[in-house]
Amino acid sequence: MSAAQPLPTADGEKDSLWQRELRQQFPLVAGHPELAYLDSAATSQKPRAVLEAVQTYLTTSNANAGRGTYPWANRTTELVESTRERVKEFLHDPEPGRSGVHFTSGTTEGLRTVARDWLVPYLGDGDEILVPFADHRAHLEPWLEAQRLLAGRGIDVQVRALPYQTVSGDYDHRALGEVVGPRTRFVAATHVHHVYGGDMNVHRIRAVVGPDVPICLDAAQSVGHLPVRLDDPALDVDFVVFSGHKAMALPGTGAVWARNTRGPAFRPDGWQGTPNTVGIVSLRAALDWLDAAGPDRIARWTAGLTTRLTDRLRHIGPYELLGCPASLAADSALAASQRRHGIVTFRHRDIPSDDLGFILFSHGFMVRADSLCQAGADPREGSVRVSLHVYNTVEEIDRLLTVLASLA
Ligand code: PMP
Repeated sequence: MSAAQPLPTADGEKDSLWQRELRQQFPLVAGHPELAYLDSAATSQKPRAVLEAVQTYLTTSNANAGRGTYPWANRTTELVESTRERVKEFLHDPEPGRSGVHFTSGTTEGLRTVARDWLVPYLGDGDEILVPFADHRAHLEPWLEAQRLLAGRGIDVQVRALPYQTVSGDYDHRALGEVVGPRTRFVAATHVHHVYGGDMNVHRIRAVVGPDVPICLDAAQSVGHLPVRLDDPALDVDFVVFSGHKAMALPGTGAVWARNTRGPAFRPDGWQGTPNTVGIVSLRAALDWLDAAGPDRIARWTAGLTTRLTDRLRHIGPYELLGCPASLAADSALAASQRRHGIVTFRHRDIPSDDLGFILFSHGFMVRADSLCQAGADPREGSVRVSLHVYNTVEEIDRLLTVLASLA
């Protein structure tokens, strides 16, 4: 079976030629055909355009930003400031004159900054916030820290748990109505779940909480993987927090986008220090690369691979898929409300997940095999996560399925 094998979609043939060309742009991936990198939810591989942008910057105009007045410093300042605008453009921000972009080291730091510098001063005694207790730990701890900080000042804030549907891993939007009240002042939600891969349908949260409650979206698993369009009324959120390093940029990069229409404008407190200029340069190049490749097309490719893996894996005896049991991308009636985005997590009935991770690596597959940083997860009960990006191929999925079937 060749790496150019098309997916059975309307544009399968065209997409597979396009994908093969893109894959060649990732030196680490293309240089190791014997390996399969299936851990893009942890961090993505980097295309040559990003590596070259960094090299060019460091060898032509490296300086600090916002400080000197000589050309290299001016150029660096201009790169940092224009990348804020580039982030807005990438996210299809409908009101770029009003919103703000703050650079961080990743989603964890971004969420913590929103919690500490925006949420804490915004909340008052008796207010309630709704947060996810079964998403990424990075998306729980900052809100609990904010509650503790406020408690230390004598301000009592209730933290309520977003309810979940037990089978699919989605938020339970019906039960949500019971936890939302007149004192609900803030909701923290996830765009795509890092374990289940499902779109968490934030528009349904908006429908329940009404038009005035700010929502902070953890977009670590969506930005760079699928179109994230803030001009879409279905994405009426107030903060979008993401990691650049999961979206083709260098490690140590990320951003908070703030709409600045509900509550006070977001302005991180205090002296900000030297920004990660190289990371920001890489982020800009990454966003250019992603836009040129086409987020729609990237999402279609990874959805195709996800469907293939999910729909076959669920027929192989000893494997239990976590989250939505079938890939609903295959079902157009359901696809609009829920689909897996490039993440498939499972367990083998008899083989512990960490052992399965080692076995898979002995066959060249790099997957994540542990408790996946999920809040509340029992670290002894791990799982195996396969997470995909545009450089992954049908052949890799089929090879993986062959190995998984042989372990049945
Ligand atoms: N949220 C989600 C949904 C994630 O998947 C991750 C990373 N696995 C994070 C937050 C944390 O991102 P970072 O490590 O870049 O801070």
